[in-house]
Amino acid sequence: MSDGKMVKMPMPRMDSVTVAVRVRPFSQREKNSGSKCVISMHSRTTTTIQDPKNPEHRKTFTFDLAYWSHDGFQKDKDGVFISTDPSSKFASQKDVFHDLGRGILDSAWQGYNATLLAYGQTGSGKSYSMVGLGANKGIIPNVCEELFQAIEERERNQEYQVTFSMLEIYNEQIRDLLSRTKQPGGLKVREDQHLGFYVDGLKSVPCENYAQIERLMEQGTKIRTTASTNMNASSSRSHMVITIQFRQVFLDRDLTKQSTINLVDLAGSERQKSSGSEGDRLREGSQVNLSLTNLGNVISALADAATGKKVLHIPYRDSVLTKLLQPALGGNSRTTLIAAISPADICYEETLSTLRYAERAKKIRNRAVVNTSTLMRESKAENDRQWIMKTLPHLLNVNEDPQLTGVLKYFIQAGTHPSRPTLDLLRLLAFISDKHASFTNLDGKVTVTPHSKCKVVVNGVPIVTKTKLQHLDRIILGSNSAYLYIGFPPERGSEDLTRFDYDFFQLERAAAEGVSVDKLGAASHGDGKADPGMLAVFQDYVRLMPLVAEANQMGEELKKGLRMELKVKNLAASDSRGHELQKEVMVKVTNQRTREVWIWSKAKFINRKFLMEELYQRFLDGEDSHVAQEDDPFWDPVEVVHLGSAHIWLQSLAYSIKLEEQVEFMNCEGEEEAVVHVCVTPCSPAGRACGEEDVVIDPSELLGKRMDFQVGLVRCLGVKWLKEDAERGIQMGYRMYDLSSTFYTKPVWKMVNPQIEETVQFTALNASQEFLNYLQTNALIVDLWGLQEGCAQLDCSQSDLMVTSEGHVMVDTKKMSTLMDPGQTPSNQISELYMKLLKLEQETELLRDTNRALREENVFLKQSLEKVGSTQQAHKPSNTLKLTWTAAHPPAAREMNQMYTRPASSDREFAKALKLFYHSMNQARGQLLRLRQEKPPEEDEMLRPFVQQQAQRLKDLGDALESSLRRLKNDVAVIVKKKRASLPHAE
Ligand code: ADP
Ligand code: MG
Repeated sequence: MSDGKMVKMPMPRMDSVTVAVRVRPFSQREKNSGSKCVISMHSRTTTTIQDPKNPEHRKTFTFDLAYWSHDGFQKDKDGVFISTDPSSKFASQKDVFHDLGRGILDSAWQGYNATLLAYGQTGSGKSYSMVGLGANKGIIPNVCEELFQAIEERERNQEYQVTFSMLEIYNEQIRDLLSRTKQPGGLKVREDQHLGFYVDGLKSVPCENYAQIERLMEQGTKIRTTASTNMNASSSRSHMVITIQFRQVFLDRDLTKQSTINLVDLAGSERQKSSGSEGDRLREGSQVNLSLTNLGNVISALADAATGKKVLHIPYRDSVLTKLLQPALGGNSRTTLIAAISPADICYEETLSTLRYAERAKKIRNRAVVNTSTLMRESKAENDRQWIMKTLPHLLNVNEDPQLTGVLKYFIQAGTHPSRPTLDLLRLLAFISDKHASFTNLDGKVTVTPHSKCKVVVNGVPIVTKTKLQHLDRIILGSNSAYLYIGFPPERGSEDLTRFDYDFFQLERAAAEGVSVDKLGAASHGDGKADPGMLAVFQDYVRLMPLVAEANQMGEELKKGLRMELKVKNLAASDSRGHELQKEVMVKVTNQRTREVWIWSKAKFINRKFLMEELYQRFLDGEDSHVAQEDDPFWDPVEVVHLGSAHIWLQSLAYSIKLEEQVEFMNCEGEEEAVVHVCVTPCSPAGRACGEEDVVIDPSELLGKRMDFQVGLVRCLGVKWLKEDAERGIQMGYRMYDLSSTFYTKPVWKMVNPQIEETVQFTALNASQEFLNYLQTNALIVDLWGLQEGCAQLDCSQSDLMVTSEGHVMVDTKKMSTLMDPGQTPSNQISELYMKLLKLEQETELLRDTNRALREENVFLKQSLEKVGSTQQAHKPSNTLKLTWTAAHPPAAREMNQMYTRPASSDREFAKALKLFYHSMNQARGQLLRLRQEKPPEEDEMLRPFVQQQAQRLKDLGDALESSLRRLKNDVAVIVKKKRASLPHAE
């Protein structure tokens, strides 16, 4: 963009929506987790996105403008981001304003309506582009400033009127951000034949200069922040609409030109996806989404209409936002959409969906017309504002949304009576009870005192008594209202306050509570750095901590009797190779009275929290907060709970060796939940267990052969779930190789050591290489499920499986299914044919083997005879005689045969040794998995014993490995020696 920077924006077709994309720099968090940039922009109009999982997958989008704000910039002395050098393609706030803001102003002067929408996921940079941050002013302030500048330069025989309004749409309710009084239920949208849709009762303040607008915006942001701090709304879920009515009055012509400029900072687009509440029985978090979803529907419908598709209905009326934006979309407005995107690989899906959205918006066609009318005057309203003494110590709010941080200031005036609360305003904040804490400014000292049991956290640590505050202390009131304390002027320096952002508070609190990447079980990469996936989990955890605290607080006040706890789920437990280090955060919910337990995914929790907030708001507003059980976000039907998984390594099966073991079920936190006694037994088609003579040395011997084996779950021991509550029950389930259905055992109730005794025989008719590889490297994962009173059991009927004629479950059927063509013959007929074919193939193979063996035996006999002949010649008996003798005397033949089978007997010994070896390997694997999942203790003083214990276990593991290797070597050496000794030509 270097040399094209000052070029005027390429004017799109007058009637289409102008679409721009802007990619922001990495956030600190993205840098910390080692994110990669998946966006590139090779020209002023193209944006290319690369799939991080599939790097050769790239998709290029072409829009009117592509802004590269990712890198190539530096701060100038005023803190404004500018290009590092002329060759940098960096797009600054000024560049963006130059193209998009100017376009809006031009439209306004000409009397067109203009709309600018910022779309993108939370944190992608919408507000940064629209409003800006600090010295880096965004489009809105720049548009306003330039508008007034231009007005001042105009001729005097014209009059200009500018009015400003600012509203927020949250949960389909409109809130006037310029009004301090909150209308219960919000303002209403009405429809007028001439005006179209408008917001009834919305303040529209006339402004004469930019300073006035600046003040109004500040005021509006303050109200928005208070509302957001009031916990009912995170700003990311609300749409902010600023409307500037610009009217030019041509006094000489008695004519007006009128333009409405809508500047819309949309809610984060991420909740657009239905996956946000995946699998939740409750509707997606309130109507938070409705406006944005419907905006998408309107855009799609308009895009279809513009490309000639037949569209019967554009659903403008289905949501508040689309009603207000009707002129902007497919109507009388020049519209611009700025799609804000994150550069990071972890945002790939969201970014792609933003780009697709923008692509659709690009197709909309508008018909903007100049709005003229005859003159009509309006009265002006007054506008005033205090400023408060800046010398007082104060609290600055810190919001999750950087735009709303530092907007509220609570000054702590000098008080003579220490017990008198001086901070009345804080009482307004939800989760902060009426008298949550007193802040006292006495004798040049500021202290905070929590009231009764109210939660106050200072610098991450909860306090219970009066505590002196120091400049830059971090204070959290209740579950999540964060403030930075600014001390007396002499204490203040020129420190950078932006360091104390929302993340800083949360990380500090997490650290004080002992949550760290290591504690959550990060596995380091060996270079001392934690694995980036784990860092992401840690950040998730830290972000969710205050939300869980809020949810608990709401539950408590609404008397729901629930306890929600954050847990980290270890996915190693569900990975059949035990390699998976991936973890994810989830929420365990316990009914404190009934002890019922639920496990919620992060997405489900977030969805539920939206709904809880809605309910809680009703409660706070004094409305009826009673809901039917099935609509209660705090309620769920009782369900089965996943307790843990056991790894049964299948390697021995690949050698036709039986495995019988007691294996632990590990829960997601790496603790033992129970033990299962399990047998995996290779067997004959009729179910007779294989013996040592069936052991194979090399699994490839089994390739293409029929393999039968039984999986028997014998008994479950020491089930914690049942120890906790004897009324409960369990089921176990596992999935074998390529089978899509899970085998569940029958439910057993009220027994801590239940006898299970369930065996299934599996058959691979034609063992494939993949199957043999699978056996050698994977484990069968057996899941333990906890049943509670009233929950539905897991279905243990085994229908829709392919079975052999003996009734065994067929596995490894991929090759079969590719051969089958269900389109031509009924599939069971084909499978019958196929099985016959396989049988024939197997018989042929058997015959071939026998033939081969016979031939070898023949050769061997011949050689032996020759040898016997030559020694006999030395001892003189006749050659021919010996030959007939051999053939005629079975005992001698048996002896010979024994000589021939010697290698086979050493094979058997070898197999025995291997069997021992695999057995010890299985145990070692189990130990390793346990070690990996072990969590360090919470207390520091326990750390040393823990490390010592870990070290000892590692040493034991090492010793065990050493000794089994040694034994294997010895055994092999003995076998080899014996083999050598037995060879006929041995010395
Ligand atoms: P959104 O409004 O989409 O949720 P924000 O505008 O608040 O996102 O941006 C998130 C963070 O990224 C903020 O800290 C913001 O300052 C920063 N940011 C966004 N865009 C840019 C940019 N172009 N240059 C520098 N920082 C940016
Ligand atoms: Mg924002």
